[in-house]
Amino acid sequence: MPTEKDNDSVQVAVRIRPLIDSEIGRGCRDILEVFPAIHQIRIKDSDRAFTFNHVCDSMTSQMLFYGMCVKPLIDNLFKGYNVTILAYGQTGSGKTYSMGTAYDGDTDGGIIPRAVNDIFNYANDNFAYDFHITVSFMELYQEVLYDLLTAKSREQSVVEIREDPKGAIIIPGLTAEPVKSASQALDLLLKGSKGRVTGSTNMNTQSSRSHAIFTINILMQQKSDSNMNKTAKFYLVDLAGSERSKKTGATGVAFREGVNINKGLLALGNVISVLGGDKQQSYVSFRDSNLTRLLKDSLGGNSITLMIACVSPADYNLDETISTLRYADRARQIKNKPVVNED
Ligand code: ADP
Repeated sequence: MPTEKDNDSVQVAVRIRPLIDSEIGRGCRDILEVFPAIHQIRIKDSDRAFTFNHVCDSMTSQMLFYGMCVKPLIDNLFKGYNVTILAYGQTGSGKTYSMGTAYDGDTDGGIIPRAVNDIFNYANDNFAYDFHITVSFMELYQEVLYDLLTAKSREQSVVEIREDPKGAIIIPGLTAEPVKSASQALDLLLKGSKGRVTGSTNMNTQSSRSHAIFTINILMQQKSDSNMNKTAKFYLVDLAGSERSKKTGATGVAFREGVNINKGLLALGNVISVLGGDKQQSYVSFRDSNLTRLLKDSLGGNSITLMIACVSPADYNLDETISTLRYADRARQIKNKPVVNED
């Protein structure tokens, strides 16, 4: 269970999904084993082992995963901290399933529907503060940022990332829809996910090759003194697939998309390497991609951050799995400086 002290470091949870039909059809072997008591994941028949804050095998239910890895972070929002959850991994490894980004009203949803319900339950039971909650939903595709909640056409829904005079990231014109209930927020999640670009590659027929960022903004106004405010931003990020284009069998536009997606993920990898102390470089180049600009506060900044490393258990995906585990291992070394947003 993470403690307050752990909040200084980026936390990492590894989640293994079950073998899927196409892997079983290929005769794939399950090559991963977990040792939860020591938080370790190992590659069978090798000496490769990685230790993370949480390691979850393929039997871990949505409810258990949420309760163990995410719920303890939700309380921090109400103290006025920003919280980020990032799902990383190759296409088809379970990012969307875990985040719940493609929520369709299913009761066994992922993190977003569960978190939204918890946030509103907390707000409804709290008599000391008035809560003002808004949600935004963005898609970053080929380095272009789209507002998924606007009524405008796809072309007109493009929004720009800017910095305010203090260096904080702002997105002028981005829809921040006020919501009064969990169901209103989840309707917006559904509306936005329908507008996302989806594509089909060998890895997964319905997978998205874009990054999806769902944001919940919370303003807490003390009832006894409306000048006493706390704010919190909750970033929920479902990253694009991390695989190399070759494995996806992508060609033409899909190949170019792969290259562009990798630009964001490559920049993210560099940021993680520098912040994690892997590179002898003091300058962190967040400006190299829109993805890293958006995640500036989440890595090395003022946020409490959890990275979920999603992996397939199949021997066929061994290279991608090791690459994901290495990436996550570097992320685990990053120190953040969470601060309460209070005025
Ligand atoms: P990604 O978003 O990484 O491309 P998905 O979330 O779409 O991958 O997952 C690929 C497939 O595997 C989906 O059919 C999904 O329902 C299934 N899946 C992923 N993780 C799990 C899990 N932990 N338990 C059961 N099924 C899972």
